[in-house]
Amino acid sequence: MEYKQLIGEALACGRRYTRYGKTASYISELAKRDPSHLGLAICGLDGKTAAAGDCDEYFTMQSIAKLIGLILAIEQNGFDVVFSKVGMEPTGDAFNSMVRLDLLTGSKPFNPMINAGAIAVASCLRGATFEERVAACLAFARRLMRDPQIDVDYKAFAAERATGYKNRAIINLMKSNGIIDGEVEPHLDVYFALCSISANCRDLARFAAVLANNGCDPEDGERLVPLPVVQRVRSLMVTCGMYDYSGEFAATVGIPSKSGVGGGILSASIGRMGIAAFGPALDTHGTSVGGLKMIEFLSDRLGLNMF
Ligand code: GLN
Repeated sequence: MEYKQLIGEALACGRRYTRYGKTASYISELAKRDPSHLGLAICGLDGKTAAAGDCDEYFTMQSIAKLIGLILAIEQNGFDVVFSKVGMEPTGDAFNSMVRLDLLTGSKPFNPMINAGAIAVASCLRGATFEERVAACLAFARRLMRDPQIDVDYKAFAAERATGYKNRAIINLMKSNGIIDGEVEPHLDVYFALCSISANCRDLARFAAVLANNGCDPEDGERLVPLPVVQRVRSLMVTCGMYDYSGEFAATVGIPSKSGVGGGILSASIGRMGIAAFGPALDTHGTSVGGLKMIEFLSDRLGLNMF
């Protein structure tokens, strides 16, 4: 496929930067990953995928799964319910920041891409038990990525659950602000399970291609996500998807994207293609250093800047 050579060049470009990053240290399972790993996949709107490097390596989606939680929560509850609990404004703060939550009593988290917002969204995910709620997320993830092997990495889940003090503080603060219904721990578990969904670059490129293809499966055209939901999600990816780097990323790369501390970056080039990069060595924003360079390279070479 024509992208094969370009992907090779992008990988070579990304490899020059991995040494400048570090694996996430606050989740022990992530700290163990090999920082030199690098993978890249492109899924065209015909469903054909080109991939290279460590593209078959499974890793936890972490914050990329916030997209799955958000889409599913909107499908289950509608826009009004979900956005009564979370806003749509960028913060310019770190992904796990909680400062703004305490500025005003009752203030809701700024957007669904930061931890606070994603936890509030996860609290809307329906189901009688933890298992039911996670099963719904997994069923949706498997449909989006067409990979029946997609599952929760329960080792990563347990590791994050054991040390998720900051997220626990965030949900408790939101509970005291009246944003969270019911007990906090079950909602937090659903959020941790979402973050621990394990996928590879090919899977994530396919997910990105669904978003790039206005919510339809790139292979058979089946509608998987309604267009208004895709539009809402893509816009939030542009303004908030790369946390406190979102502004610069929009200005320099210009593709709706979402990063995760597992080292993945998902980029949906609207009407063009889905891209997924993987590299566990992160910069100070919690974004894959090598992944970022590869996406920058592809945006430049393929003219993917939407602005
Ligand atoms: N599970 C991670 C956390 O809550 C997700 C953060 C991320 O990927 N940026 O801290």
